[in-house]
Amino acid sequence: MTVARRKFDAVIVGAGGGGMRAALQLSEAGLKVAVLSKVFPTRSHTVAAQGGIAAALGNVTEDNWHWHMYDTVKGSDYLGDQDAIEFMCRQASEVVYELEHYGMPFDRLENGKIYQRPFGGQSQNFGGAQATRSCAVADRTGHAMLHTLYQRNVRANTQFFVEWMGLDLIRDEHGDVLGVSALDIETGEVMILQARATLFATGGGARIFSASTNAFINTGDGLAMAARAGVPLQDMEFWQFHPTGVYGVGILISEAVRGEGGYLLNKDGERFMERYAPHAKDLASRDVVSRAMTTEIKEGRGCGRDADHLLLKLDHLGGNVIKARLPGIREIAIKFAHADPVQEPIPVVPTAHYMMGGIPTNFHGQVVAPYKTGPEEVVQGFYAVGECACVSVHGANRLGTNSLLDILVFGRAAGNQIIEDLKRNTHHKHLPGDAADKALARLARLDSRKDGENVAQVGDMLRKTMQAHCGVFRFADLLKQGVDKISEVAERVKNTEIRDKSRVFNTARVEALELDNLVEVALATMVSAQARKESRGAHARDDFPHRDDDKWLKHTLYFSEDRRLDYKPVRLKPLTVESFPPKARTY
Ligand SMILES: Cc1cc2nc3c(=O)[nH]c(=O)nc-3n(C[C@H](O)[C@H](O)[C@H](O)COP(=O)(O)OP(=O)(O)OC[C@H]3O[C@@H](n4cnc5c(N)ncnc54)[C@H](O)[C@@H]3O)c2cc1C
Repeated sequence: MTVARRKFDAVIVGAGGGGMRAALQLSEAGLKVAVLSKVFPTRSHTVAAQGGIAAALGNVTEDNWHWHMYDTVKGSDYLGDQDAIEFMCRQASEVVYELEHYGMPFDRLENGKIYQRPFGGQSQNFGGAQATRSCAVADRTGHAMLHTLYQRNVRANTQFFVEWMGLDLIRDEHGDVLGVSALDIETGEVMILQARATLFATGGGARIFSASTNAFINTGDGLAMAARAGVPLQDMEFWQFHPTGVYGVGILISEAVRGEGGYLLNKDGERFMERYAPHAKDLASRDVVSRAMTTEIKEGRGCGRDADHLLLKLDHLGGNVIKARLPGIREIAIKFAHADPVQEPIPVVPTAHYMMGGIPTNFHGQVVAPYKTGPEEVVQGFYAVGECACVSVHGANRLGTNSLLDILVFGRAAGNQIIEDLKRNTHHKHLPGDAADKALARLARLDSRKDGENVAQVGDMLRKTMQAHCGVFRFADLLKQGVDKISEVAERVKNTEIRDKSRVFNTARVEALELDNLVEVALATMVSAQARKESRGAHARDDFPHRDDDKWLKHTLYFSEDRRLDYKPVRLKPLTVESFPPKARTY
Protein backbone atom coordinates (compact mmCIF):
# COMPACT_ATOMS: atom_id res chain seq x y z
CA MET A 1 0.00 0.00 0.00
CA THR A 2 1.30 3.46 -0.76
CA VAL A 3 1.26 5.91 2.05
CA ALA A 4 1.35 9.69 1.66
CA ARG A 5 4.62 11.33 2.59
CA ARG A 6 5.71 14.75 3.67
CA LYS A 7 9.25 16.02 4.07
CA PHE A 8 10.60 18.30 6.78
CA ASP A 9 14.03 19.32 8.00
CA ALA A 10 13.07 18.10 11.45
CA VAL A 11 10.14 16.20 12.90
CA ILE A 12 9.48 16.43 16.61
CA VAL A 13 7.10 13.98 18.23
CA GLY A 14 5.67 15.67 21.34
CA ALA A 15 4.62 19.24 22.06
CA GLY A 16 5.30 19.39 25.79
CA GLY A 17 7.98 21.66 27.22
CA GLY A 18 10.82 19.55 25.83
CA GLY A 19 9.48 19.31 22.30
CA MET A 20 8.48 22.96 22.12
CA ARG A 21 11.78 24.26 23.52
CA ALA A 22 13.64 22.26 20.85
CA ALA A 23 11.20 23.33 18.13
CA LEU A 24 11.70 26.98 19.01
CA GLN A 25 15.44 26.67 18.58
CA LEU A 26 14.99 25.06 15.15
CA SER A 27 12.22 27.33 13.82
CA GLU A 28 14.10 30.45 14.89
CA ALA A 29 17.09 29.11 12.93
CA GLY A 30 14.87 29.04 9.83
CA LEU A 31 14.41 25.27 9.61
CA LYS A 32 11.18 23.64 8.49
CA VAL A 33 9.88 21.92 11.61
CA ALA A 34 6.84 19.70 12.18
CA VAL A 35 5.69 19.07 15.76
CA LEU A 36 3.22 16.23 16.31
CA SER A 37 1.05 15.91 19.38
CA LYS A 38 -1.74 13.56 20.41
CA VAL A 39 -3.46 16.53 22.04
CA PHE A 40 -3.46 20.30 21.56
CA PRO A 41 0.09 21.41 22.52
CA THR A 42 -0.92 23.29 25.66
CA ARG A 43 -2.68 20.19 27.01
CA SER A 44 0.59 18.22 27.18
CA HIS A 45 1.44 16.98 30.65
CA THR A 46 3.94 19.81 31.26
CA VAL A 47 0.84 21.95 31.78
CA ALA A 48 0.16 20.06 35.02
CA ALA A 49 3.52 20.88 36.61
CA GLN A 50 2.83 22.80 39.76
CA GLY A 51 5.78 23.40 42.03
CA GLY A 52 8.48 25.11 40.02
CA ILE A 53 11.70 24.96 38.07
CA ALA A 54 15.08 24.60 39.75
CA ALA A 55 17.87 27.12 39.17
CA ALA A 56 20.48 28.41 41.60
CA LEU A 57 19.57 32.08 41.09
CA GLY A 58 20.26 32.80 44.74
CA ASN A 59 17.39 35.28 44.94
CA VAL A 60 16.27 34.19 48.41
CA THR A 61 19.25 32.36 49.91
CA GLU A 62 22.89 32.08 48.93
CA ASP A 63 23.21 29.45 46.20
CA ASN A 64 25.26 28.43 43.18
CA TRP A 65 25.15 25.83 40.38
CA HIS A 66 27.83 23.67 41.99
CA TRP A 67 25.66 23.10 45.07
CA HIS A 68 22.73 22.37 42.78
CA MET A 69 24.93 19.84 41.01
CA TYR A 70 25.90 18.22 44.31
CA ASP A 71 22.25 17.91 45.43
CA THR A 72 21.31 16.40 42.07
CA VAL A 73 24.15 13.84 42.13
CA LYS A 74 23.26 12.89 45.70
CA GLY A 75 19.53 12.81 44.90
CA SER A 76 20.24 10.48 41.98
CA ASP A 77 21.83 8.06 44.48
CA TYR A 78 25.00 8.42 42.37
CA LEU A 79 23.49 6.78 39.30
CA GLY A 80 23.24 10.14 37.48
CA ASP A 81 25.88 10.91 34.85
CA GLN A 82 27.93 13.74 36.31
CA ASP A 83 28.90 15.33 32.97
CA ALA A 84 25.21 15.76 32.08
CA ILE A 85 24.34 16.98 35.59
CA GLU A 86 27.08 19.62 35.47
CA PHE A 87 25.86 20.68 32.01
CA MET A 88 22.28 21.05 33.26
CA CYS A 89 22.98 22.85 36.53
CA ARG A 90 25.43 25.29 34.91
CA GLN A 91 22.84 26.32 32.31
CA ALA A 92 19.90 26.53 34.69
CA SER A 93 19.97 30.27 35.39
CA GLU A 94 20.40 31.09 31.73
CA VAL A 95 17.41 29.05 30.53
CA VAL A 96 15.23 30.46 33.32
CA TYR A 97 16.13 34.07 32.45
CA GLU A 98 15.57 33.26 28.79
CA LEU A 99 12.11 31.98 29.68
CA GLU A 100 11.49 35.13 31.70
CA HIS A 101 12.38 37.20 28.65
CA TYR A 102 10.01 35.09 26.54
CA GLY A 103 7.26 36.39 28.81
CA MET A 104 6.93 33.77 31.54
CA PRO A 105 4.93 35.46 34.33
CA PHE A 106 7.05 34.36 37.32
CA ASP A 107 5.92 35.27 40.83
CA ARG A 108 8.04 38.08 42.26
CA LEU A 109 9.79 38.90 45.49
CA GLU A 110 9.38 42.35 47.05
CA ASN A 111 12.57 43.48 45.26
CA GLY A 112 11.17 42.45 41.88
CA LYS A 113 13.36 39.36 41.45
CA ILE A 114 11.94 35.91 40.58
CA TYR A 115 10.22 34.24 43.55
CA GLN A 116 11.88 30.98 44.70
CA ARG A 117 10.69 28.36 47.19
CA PRO A 118 12.46 25.48 48.95
CA PHE A 119 11.93 21.95 47.61
CA GLY A 120 12.81 18.42 48.63
CA GLY A 121 16.43 17.27 48.43
CA GLN A 122 17.63 20.81 47.77
CA SER A 123 18.54 21.35 51.32
CA GLN A 124 22.31 21.24 51.23
CA ASN A 125 25.09 23.54 50.34
CA PHE A 126 28.70 23.03 51.26
CA GLY A 127 28.18 25.09 54.38
CA GLY A 128 25.17 22.97 55.34
CA ALA A 129 22.61 25.79 54.99
CA GLN A 130 19.30 25.36 53.19
CA ALA A 131 19.03 26.53 49.58
CA THR A 132 15.80 27.98 48.19
CA ARG A 133 15.94 27.12 44.52
CA SER A 134 12.59 26.51 42.84
CA CYS A 135 11.35 29.37 40.64
CA ALA A 136 7.58 29.38 40.60
CA VAL A 137 4.41 30.82 39.16
CA ALA A 138 2.12 30.14 42.16
CA ASP A 139 1.34 26.41 41.83
CA ARG A 140 0.88 26.50 38.07
CA THR A 141 4.47 26.81 36.86
CA GLY A 142 4.12 24.25 34.06
CA HIS A 143 0.95 25.92 32.80
CA ALA A 144 2.67 29.27 32.49
CA MET A 145 5.73 27.69 30.89
CA LEU A 146 3.87 25.68 28.28
CA HIS A 147 1.76 28.64 27.18
CA THR A 148 4.85 30.85 26.99
CA LEU A 149 6.65 28.31 24.79
CA TYR A 150 3.60 27.71 22.61
CA GLN A 151 3.18 31.40 21.88
CA ARG A 152 6.86 31.79 21.03
CA ASN A 153 6.55 28.85 18.63
CA VAL A 154 3.52 30.33 16.91
CA ARG A 155 5.55 33.50 16.44
CA ALA A 156 8.43 31.45 14.97
CA ASN A 157 6.13 29.64 12.51
CA THR A 158 6.58 26.15 13.92
CA GLN A 159 4.12 23.85 12.15
CA PHE A 160 1.93 21.85 14.54
CA PHE A 161 0.22 18.57 13.69
CA VAL A 162 -2.43 18.55 16.38
CA GLU A 163 -4.11 15.24 17.27
CA TRP A 164 -1.59 13.23 15.34
CA MET A 165 -0.13 10.09 16.86
CA GLY A 166 3.38 8.86 16.03
CA LEU A 167 3.17 5.11 15.34
CA ASP A 168 6.63 3.83 14.54
CA LEU A 169 10.18 5.02 14.05
CA ILE A 170 11.60 4.56 10.56
CA ARG A 171 15.19 3.28 10.28
CA ASP A 172 17.19 2.15 7.28
CA GLU A 173 19.51 -0.83 6.95
CA HIS A 174 22.35 1.10 8.63
CA GLY A 175 20.15 1.89 11.61
CA ASP A 176 19.92 5.59 10.66
CA VAL A 177 16.61 7.25 11.53
CA LEU A 178 14.61 8.77 8.66
CA GLY A 179 11.37 9.90 10.30
CA VAL A 180 8.14 8.42 11.67
CA SER A 181 4.90 6.92 10.52
CA ALA A 182 1.94 8.69 12.07
CA LEU A 183 -1.82 8.51 12.37
CA ASP A 184 -4.00 11.55 11.77
CA ILE A 185 -6.51 10.85 14.53
CA GLU A 186 -9.14 13.10 12.95
CA THR A 187 -9.25 11.24 9.62
CA GLY A 188 -7.75 7.87 10.54
CA GLU A 189 -5.19 8.17 7.73
CA VAL A 190 -1.55 7.11 8.06
CA MET A 191 1.25 9.30 6.75
CA ILE A 192 5.04 9.14 6.66
CA LEU A 193 6.79 12.22 7.97
CA GLN A 194 10.27 12.12 6.58
CA ALA A 195 13.00 14.20 8.21
CA ARG A 196 16.73 14.77 8.34
CA ALA A 197 16.39 14.88 12.12
CA THR A 198 13.76 13.13 14.26
CA LEU A 199 13.37 14.15 17.87
CA PHE A 200 11.26 12.32 20.43
CA ALA A 201 9.81 14.38 23.28
CA THR A 202 6.87 12.14 24.08
CA GLY A 203 6.96 12.55 27.86
CA GLY A 204 6.42 9.95 30.57
CA GLY A 205 4.60 6.65 30.88
CA ALA A 206 3.40 6.40 34.46
CA ARG A 207 0.03 5.22 33.13
CA ILE A 208 1.50 1.72 33.43
CA PHE A 209 0.46 2.00 37.10
CA SER A 210 -3.15 2.11 38.30
CA ALA A 211 -2.46 4.93 40.78
CA SER A 212 -0.71 7.66 38.83
CA THR A 213 -0.42 11.45 38.82
CA ASN A 214 0.09 11.37 35.04
CA ALA A 215 -2.28 12.43 32.27
CA PHE A 216 -4.09 9.66 30.37
CA ILE A 217 -1.93 10.37 27.31
CA ASN A 218 1.30 9.48 29.19
CA THR A 219 1.59 5.99 27.76
CA GLY A 220 5.29 5.89 26.95
CA ASP A 221 4.78 5.91 23.17
CA GLY A 222 8.24 7.25 22.33
CA LEU A 223 9.93 4.55 24.38
CA ALA A 224 7.91 1.81 22.75
CA MET A 225 8.57 3.16 19.25
CA ALA A 226 12.29 3.26 20.01
CA ALA A 227 12.25 -0.19 21.59
CA ARG A 228 10.39 -1.74 18.65
CA ALA A 229 13.02 -0.24 16.35
CA GLY A 230 15.87 -1.92 18.25
CA VAL A 231 16.94 0.94 20.54
CA PRO A 232 17.44 -0.22 24.16
CA LEU A 233 15.67 1.43 27.09
CA GLN A 234 17.84 2.61 29.97
CA ASP A 235 17.27 2.34 33.75
CA MET A 236 13.61 1.43 33.46
CA GLU A 237 13.47 -0.03 36.99
CA PHE A 238 13.54 3.50 38.42
CA TRP A 239 10.09 5.05 38.81
CA GLN A 240 9.43 7.89 41.17
CA PHE A 241 6.48 7.58 43.52
CA HIS A 242 5.45 11.06 44.57
CA PRO A 243 4.66 11.15 48.30
CA THR A 244 1.48 13.20 47.96
CA GLY A 245 -1.11 12.01 45.47
CA VAL A 246 -4.71 12.65 46.62
CA TYR A 247 -5.85 9.45 48.38
CA GLY A 248 -8.08 7.34 46.12
CA VAL A 249 -7.76 9.71 43.14
CA GLY A 250 -4.07 10.06 42.32
CA ILE A 251 -4.10 13.75 41.40
CA LEU A 252 -0.91 15.43 42.51
CA ILE A 253 -0.56 17.68 45.52
CA SER A 254 2.67 19.50 44.77
CA GLU A 255 5.75 19.23 46.96
CA ALA A 256 5.45 23.03 47.01
CA VAL A 257 3.02 22.47 49.91
CA ARG A 258 5.86 21.06 51.99
CA GLY A 259 8.24 23.65 50.49
CA GLU A 260 5.98 26.37 51.87
CA GLY A 261 5.95 24.68 55.31
CA GLY A 262 3.30 21.94 55.20
CA TYR A 263 4.07 18.54 56.78
CA LEU A 264 2.85 14.94 57.01
CA LEU A 265 1.08 13.34 59.97
CA ASN A 266 0.23 9.74 60.86
CA LYS A 267 -2.89 8.57 62.71
CA ASP A 268 -1.39 9.54 66.08
CA GLY A 269 -0.92 13.10 64.86
CA GLU A 270 2.83 12.50 64.84
CA ARG A 271 5.11 14.34 62.40
CA PHE A 272 6.76 11.03 61.53
CA MET A 273 9.31 12.31 58.98
CA GLU A 274 11.37 13.60 61.94
CA ARG A 275 12.16 9.94 62.70
CA TYR A 276 13.18 9.01 59.13
CA ALA A 277 15.06 12.16 58.05
CA PRO A 278 16.02 14.15 61.17
CA HIS A 279 17.48 17.11 59.23
CA ALA A 280 15.45 17.50 56.04
CA LYS A 281 12.27 16.00 57.57
CA ASP A 282 9.36 16.42 55.11
CA LEU A 283 11.73 17.88 52.53
CA ALA A 284 13.88 14.77 52.25
CA SER A 285 14.18 13.30 48.77
CA ARG A 286 10.96 11.83 47.32
CA ASP A 287 12.06 8.19 47.45
CA VAL A 288 12.87 8.60 51.16
CA VAL A 289 9.50 10.21 52.01
CA SER A 290 7.47 7.68 49.97
CA ARG A 291 9.20 4.77 51.71
CA ALA A 292 8.61 6.33 55.13
CA MET A 293 4.90 6.76 54.35
CA THR A 294 4.58 3.18 53.08
CA THR A 295 6.30 1.93 56.25
CA GLU A 296 3.95 3.97 58.47
CA ILE A 297 0.94 2.43 56.70
CA LYS A 298 2.41 -1.09 56.84
CA GLU A 299 3.08 -0.78 60.56
CA GLY A 300 -0.50 0.25 61.29
CA ARG A 301 -0.09 4.00 61.71
CA GLY A 302 -2.04 4.94 58.58
CA CYS A 303 -5.13 7.17 58.83
CA GLY A 304 -8.79 6.58 58.07
CA ARG A 305 -11.05 3.57 58.44
CA ASP A 306 -8.69 1.32 56.48
CA ALA A 307 -5.51 2.88 57.92
CA ASP A 308 -4.27 3.22 54.34
CA HIS A 309 -3.23 6.86 53.90
CA LEU A 310 -1.59 9.78 55.70
CA LEU A 311 -2.47 13.42 56.23
CA LEU A 312 -0.82 16.51 54.79
CA LYS A 313 -1.30 19.45 57.14
CA LEU A 314 -0.99 23.05 55.95
CA ASP A 315 -3.68 25.06 57.73
CA HIS A 316 -0.95 26.55 59.97
CA LEU A 317 0.39 28.43 56.91
CA GLY A 318 -2.71 30.62 57.11
CA GLY A 319 -5.42 31.30 54.55
CA ASN A 320 -3.54 34.17 52.90
CA VAL A 321 -0.40 32.16 52.06
CA ILE A 322 -2.47 29.19 50.86
CA LYS A 323 -4.64 31.38 48.62
CA ALA A 324 -1.70 33.31 47.17
CA ARG A 325 0.92 30.58 46.74
CA LEU A 326 -1.12 27.38 46.49
CA PRO A 327 -4.49 28.30 44.95
CA GLY A 328 -4.58 25.33 42.56
CA ILE A 329 -3.79 22.90 45.37
CA ARG A 330 -6.62 24.28 47.46
CA GLU A 331 -9.02 23.85 44.56
CA ILE A 332 -7.88 20.24 43.94
CA ALA A 333 -8.19 19.39 47.64
CA ILE A 334 -11.71 20.83 47.88
CA LYS A 335 -12.90 19.17 44.67
CA PHE A 336 -11.25 15.78 44.93
CA ALA A 337 -10.64 15.21 48.65
CA HIS A 338 -13.56 17.30 49.99
CA ALA A 339 -11.11 18.99 52.33
CA ASP A 340 -10.40 22.72 52.42
CA PRO A 341 -6.71 22.86 53.43
CA VAL A 342 -7.24 26.24 55.05
CA GLN A 343 -9.10 24.30 57.75
CA GLU A 344 -8.21 20.61 57.52
CA PRO A 345 -5.45 18.29 56.29
CA ILE A 346 -5.45 16.57 52.88
CA PRO A 347 -5.50 12.72 52.75
CA VAL A 348 -2.53 11.55 50.62
CA VAL A 349 -0.66 8.39 49.49
CA PRO A 350 2.52 7.79 47.44
CA THR A 351 1.52 7.70 43.76
CA ALA A 352 3.44 6.78 40.56
CA HIS A 353 4.70 10.04 39.12
CA TYR A 354 7.86 10.13 37.03
CA MET A 355 10.03 7.84 34.92
CA MET A 356 13.74 8.27 35.55
CA GLY A 357 14.63 5.83 32.76
CA GLY A 358 14.08 6.21 29.04
CA ILE A 359 15.74 6.40 25.65
CA PRO A 360 19.51 6.63 26.22
CA THR A 361 21.05 9.94 25.09
CA ASN A 362 24.14 12.05 25.64
CA PHE A 363 23.80 15.64 26.87
CA HIS A 364 23.46 16.95 23.32
CA GLY A 365 20.16 15.06 23.04
CA GLN A 366 21.62 12.54 20.57
CA VAL A 367 20.36 9.01 21.08
CA VAL A 368 23.21 6.60 21.82
CA ALA A 369 22.74 2.88 21.29
CA PRO A 370 24.43 -0.14 19.81
CA TYR A 371 23.34 -1.05 16.29
CA LYS A 372 22.48 -4.75 16.43
CA THR A 373 25.26 -6.10 18.66
CA GLY A 374 27.94 -3.48 17.95
CA PRO A 375 29.34 -0.95 20.45
CA GLU A 376 27.27 2.03 21.60
CA GLU A 377 27.32 4.94 19.16
CA VAL A 378 25.25 7.94 18.17
CA VAL A 379 22.15 6.86 16.22
CA GLN A 380 22.28 9.10 13.15
CA GLY A 381 19.26 11.34 12.77
CA PHE A 382 17.69 10.42 16.13
CA TYR A 383 17.36 12.65 19.21
CA ALA A 384 15.33 12.47 22.43
CA VAL A 385 14.69 14.97 25.23
CA GLY A 386 12.53 15.35 28.31
CA GLU A 387 10.90 12.64 30.34
CA CYS A 388 11.12 10.06 27.53
CA ALA A 389 14.91 10.43 27.45
CA CYS A 390 17.52 9.15 29.90
CA VAL A 391 20.49 11.55 29.81
CA SER A 392 20.86 10.61 32.71
CA VAL A 393 20.55 13.60 35.04
CA HIS A 394 18.08 12.05 37.48
CA GLY A 395 19.79 8.68 37.95
CA ALA A 396 17.85 6.55 40.42
CA ASN A 397 15.75 9.38 41.85
CA ARG A 398 14.78 12.80 40.45
CA LEU A 399 14.70 15.90 42.64
CA GLY A 400 11.51 17.95 42.49
CA THR A 401 11.61 20.84 39.94
CA ASN A 402 14.61 19.36 38.11
CA SER A 403 12.40 18.03 35.32
CA LEU A 404 11.11 21.37 34.05
CA LEU A 405 14.76 22.37 34.06
CA ASP A 406 15.79 19.20 32.22
CA ILE A 407 13.27 19.79 29.40
CA LEU A 408 14.43 23.37 28.85
CA VAL A 409 18.17 22.69 28.99
CA PHE A 410 18.13 19.58 26.85
CA GLY A 411 15.38 20.83 24.53
CA ARG A 412 17.62 23.76 23.70
CA ALA A 413 20.79 21.62 23.54
CA ALA A 414 19.18 19.10 21.18
CA GLY A 415 17.95 21.98 19.01
CA ASN A 416 21.48 23.35 18.77
CA GLN A 417 22.92 19.91 18.00
CA ILE A 418 20.36 19.34 15.23
CA ILE A 419 21.20 22.71 13.67
CA GLU A 420 24.88 21.67 13.56
CA ASP A 421 24.16 18.16 12.27
CA LEU A 422 21.87 19.40 9.50
CA LYS A 423 24.63 21.62 8.16
CA ARG A 424 26.41 18.35 7.30
CA ASN A 425 23.39 16.19 6.43
CA THR A 426 21.95 18.32 3.68
CA HIS A 427 19.84 15.65 1.99
CA HIS A 428 17.05 13.34 3.01
CA LYS A 429 18.25 9.75 2.96
CA HIS A 430 16.56 7.12 0.81
CA LEU A 431 13.32 5.91 2.37
CA PRO A 432 12.88 2.12 2.24
CA GLY A 433 9.72 0.91 0.48
CA ASP A 434 8.48 -0.87 3.60
CA ALA A 435 8.88 2.17 5.84
CA ALA A 436 5.32 2.16 7.18
CA ASP A 437 4.65 -1.58 6.98
CA LYS A 438 4.92 -2.38 10.67
CA ALA A 439 2.51 0.38 11.64
CA LEU A 440 0.10 -0.55 8.85
CA ALA A 441 0.16 -4.20 9.95
CA ARG A 442 -0.86 -3.25 13.48
CA LEU A 443 -3.70 -1.10 12.17
CA ALA A 444 -4.79 -3.82 9.74
CA ARG A 445 -5.03 -6.29 12.61
CA LEU A 446 -7.26 -3.93 14.56
CA ASP A 447 -9.36 -3.25 11.47
CA SER A 448 -9.92 -6.89 10.55
CA ARG A 449 -10.12 -8.83 13.82
CA LYS A 450 -13.63 -9.96 14.69
CA ASP A 451 -12.97 -11.38 18.13
CA GLY A 452 -10.17 -11.09 20.60
CA GLU A 453 -9.06 -9.48 23.81
CA ASN A 454 -10.79 -6.43 25.24
CA VAL A 455 -8.42 -3.43 25.38
CA ALA A 456 -9.77 -2.05 28.67
CA GLN A 457 -9.58 -5.41 30.45
CA VAL A 458 -6.04 -6.19 29.33
CA GLY A 459 -4.96 -2.65 30.20
CA ASP A 460 -6.47 -3.08 33.64
CA MET A 461 -4.54 -6.28 34.24
CA LEU A 462 -1.34 -4.53 33.16
CA ARG A 463 -1.84 -1.58 35.51
CA LYS A 464 -2.90 -3.71 38.48
CA THR A 465 0.08 -6.02 38.00
CA MET A 466 2.53 -3.12 37.90
CA GLN A 467 0.95 -1.57 40.99
CA ALA A 468 1.01 -4.79 43.01
CA HIS A 469 4.33 -6.20 41.83
CA CYS A 470 6.58 -3.21 41.21
CA GLY A 471 5.64 -0.51 43.75
CA VAL A 472 7.47 1.56 46.37
CA PHE A 473 9.01 -1.58 47.95
CA ARG A 474 9.93 -4.54 45.78
CA PHE A 475 10.02 -8.23 46.74
CA ALA A 476 11.85 -11.04 44.90
CA ASP A 477 8.84 -13.37 44.59
CA LEU A 478 6.49 -10.57 43.51
CA LEU A 479 8.94 -9.40 40.85
CA LYS A 480 9.34 -12.91 39.51
CA GLN A 481 5.56 -13.40 39.31
CA GLY A 482 5.33 -9.90 37.87
CA VAL A 483 7.58 -10.79 34.93
CA ASP A 484 5.38 -13.85 34.22
CA LYS A 485 2.16 -11.86 34.48
CA ILE A 486 3.34 -9.00 32.27
CA SER A 487 4.61 -11.55 29.73
CA GLU A 488 1.09 -13.00 29.75
CA VAL A 489 -0.34 -9.50 29.25
CA ALA A 490 2.08 -9.04 26.32
CA GLU A 491 0.67 -12.16 24.67
CA ARG A 492 -2.90 -10.96 25.20
CA VAL A 493 -2.03 -7.52 23.78
CA LYS A 494 -1.10 -9.18 20.48
CA ASN A 495 -4.73 -10.28 20.18
CA THR A 496 -6.66 -7.16 21.12
CA GLU A 497 -9.80 -6.34 19.22
CA ILE A 498 -11.90 -3.20 18.85
CA ARG A 499 -15.63 -3.25 18.06
CA ASP A 500 -15.72 0.21 16.52
CA LYS A 501 -13.83 0.01 13.23
CA SER A 502 -14.65 3.53 12.07
CA ARG A 503 -11.82 5.83 11.02
CA VAL A 504 -12.80 9.34 11.99
CA PHE A 505 -11.66 10.24 15.50
CA ASN A 506 -11.76 6.65 16.66
CA THR A 507 -10.45 6.85 20.22
CA ALA A 508 -10.84 3.09 20.70
CA ARG A 509 -8.24 2.61 17.99
CA VAL A 510 -5.89 5.10 19.67
CA GLU A 511 -6.30 3.35 23.03
CA ALA A 512 -5.50 -0.03 21.49
CA LEU A 513 -2.35 1.42 19.93
CA GLU A 514 -1.41 2.99 23.27
CA LEU A 515 -1.76 -0.38 24.97
CA ASP A 516 0.85 -1.79 22.55
CA ASN A 517 3.14 0.92 23.93
CA LEU A 518 2.25 0.53 27.60
CA VAL A 519 3.15 -3.15 27.52
CA GLU A 520 6.63 -2.43 26.11
CA VAL A 521 7.25 0.01 28.96
CA ALA A 522 5.85 -2.36 31.59
CA LEU A 523 7.96 -5.28 30.38
CA ALA A 524 11.13 -3.19 30.34
CA THR A 525 10.36 -2.03 33.89
CA MET A 526 9.59 -5.42 35.38
CA VAL A 527 12.49 -7.26 33.73
CA SER A 528 15.01 -4.54 34.67
CA ALA A 529 13.69 -4.37 38.25
CA GLN A 530 13.87 -8.11 38.76
CA ALA A 531 17.49 -8.15 37.65
CA ARG A 532 18.81 -5.28 39.80
CA LYS A 533 19.74 -6.92 43.10
CA GLU A 534 20.35 -3.87 45.29
CA SER A 535 18.40 -0.89 46.63
CA ARG A 536 19.20 2.47 45.06
CA GLY A 537 17.05 5.58 44.84
CA ALA A 538 13.51 4.68 43.92
CA HIS A 539 14.32 0.97 43.48
CA ALA A 540 13.95 -0.45 47.01
CA ARG A 541 14.27 -4.23 47.34
CA ASP A 542 13.22 -6.03 50.45
CA ASP A 543 15.78 -8.82 49.88
CA PHE A 544 18.69 -6.47 49.03
CA PRO A 545 18.12 -3.46 51.29
CA HIS A 546 21.47 -1.74 50.62
CA ARG A 547 23.11 0.02 47.72
CA ASP A 548 25.87 -2.10 46.22
CA ASP A 549 28.30 0.14 44.34
CA ASP A 550 30.74 -2.70 43.67
CA LYS A 551 28.24 -4.64 41.60
CA TRP A 552 25.53 -2.18 40.62
CA LEU A 553 26.97 1.29 40.02
CA LYS A 554 25.93 0.90 36.37
CA HIS A 555 23.06 1.70 34.02
CA THR A 556 20.66 -0.99 32.83
CA LEU A 557 19.92 -1.40 29.11
CA TYR A 558 16.82 -3.42 28.14
CA PHE A 559 16.40 -4.73 24.58
CA SER A 560 12.83 -5.44 23.58
CA GLU A 561 13.49 -7.99 20.85
CA ASP A 562 14.80 -10.77 23.07
CA ARG A 563 14.08 -9.12 26.46
CA ARG A 564 17.83 -9.15 27.00
CA LEU A 565 19.64 -6.92 29.51
CA ASP A 566 23.02 -5.30 29.24
CA TYR A 567 24.76 -2.73 31.42
CA LYS A 568 26.96 0.30 30.90
CA PRO A 569 29.10 2.34 33.29
CA VAL A 570 27.90 5.51 35.03
CA ARG A 571 29.79 8.60 33.85
CA LEU A 572 31.28 9.70 37.14
CA LYS A 573 33.55 12.35 35.63
CA PRO A 574 31.98 15.81 35.29
CA LEU A 575 33.05 18.26 32.55
CA THR A 576 35.21 20.70 34.49
CA VAL A 577 34.86 20.14 38.24
CA GLU A 578 35.88 17.24 40.42
CA SER A 579 33.71 14.17 40.66
CA PHE A 580 31.40 13.60 43.64
CA PRO A 581 32.31 10.05 44.67
CA PRO A 582 29.47 7.85 45.95
CA LYS A 583 28.92 8.01 49.69
CA ALA A 584 26.14 7.13 52.11
CA ARG A 585 23.01 9.18 51.39
CA THR A 586 21.36 10.73 54.44
CA TYR A 587 18.87 13.60 54.78
C1 LIG B 1 1.08 16.46 37.97
C2 LIG B 1 2.53 16.70 37.68
C3 LIG B 1 3.21 17.76 38.27
C4 LIG B 1 4.55 18.00 38.00
N1 LIG B 1 5.18 19.06 38.58
C5 LIG B 1 6.47 19.32 38.27
C6 LIG B 1 7.12 20.48 38.77
O1 LIG B 1 6.54 21.31 39.48
N2 LIG B 1 8.42 20.69 38.45
C7 LIG B 1 9.10 19.82 37.64
O2 LIG B 1 10.28 20.06 37.37
N3 LIG B 1 8.49 18.72 37.14
C8 LIG B 1 7.21 18.46 37.42
N4 LIG B 1 6.59 17.35 36.89
C9 LIG B 1 7.31 16.56 35.87
C10 LIG B 1 7.35 17.34 34.57
O3 LIG B 1 6.21 18.14 34.45
C11 LIG B 1 7.41 16.43 33.35
O4 LIG B 1 8.40 15.46 33.52
C12 LIG B 1 7.74 17.24 32.11
O5 LIG B 1 6.87 18.33 32.00
C13 LIG B 1 7.68 16.38 30.86
O6 LIG B 1 7.82 17.20 29.73
P1 LIG B 1 7.99 16.56 28.29
O7 LIG B 1 8.14 17.69 27.35
O8 LIG B 1 9.06 15.54 28.35
O9 LIG B 1 6.64 15.76 28.03
P2 LIG B 1 5.09 16.16 28.13
O10 LIG B 1 4.86 17.53 28.62
O11 LIG B 1 4.44 15.04 28.84
O12 LIG B 1 4.64 16.15 26.61
C14 LIG B 1 4.59 14.96 25.85
C15 LIG B 1 4.08 15.29 24.48
O13 LIG B 1 4.22 14.17 23.65
C16 LIG B 1 3.04 13.99 22.91
N5 LIG B 1 2.98 12.58 22.54
C17 LIG B 1 3.15 11.49 23.30
N6 LIG B 1 3.05 10.38 22.56
C18 LIG B 1 2.83 10.78 21.30
C19 LIG B 1 2.63 10.11 20.07
N7 LIG B 1 2.64 8.78 19.98
N8 LIG B 1 2.41 10.85 18.97
C20 LIG B 1 2.36 12.20 19.01
N9 LIG B 1 2.56 12.89 20.15
C21 LIG B 1 2.78 12.17 21.28
C22 LIG B 1 1.95 14.46 23.80
O14 LIG B 1 0.80 14.78 23.05
C23 LIG B 1 2.62 15.70 24.40
O15 LIG B 1 2.50 16.78 23.52
C24 LIG B 1 5.25 17.11 37.14
C25 LIG B 1 4.58 16.06 36.54
C26 LIG B 1 3.25 15.83 36.83
C27 LIG B 1 2.58 14.64 36.20
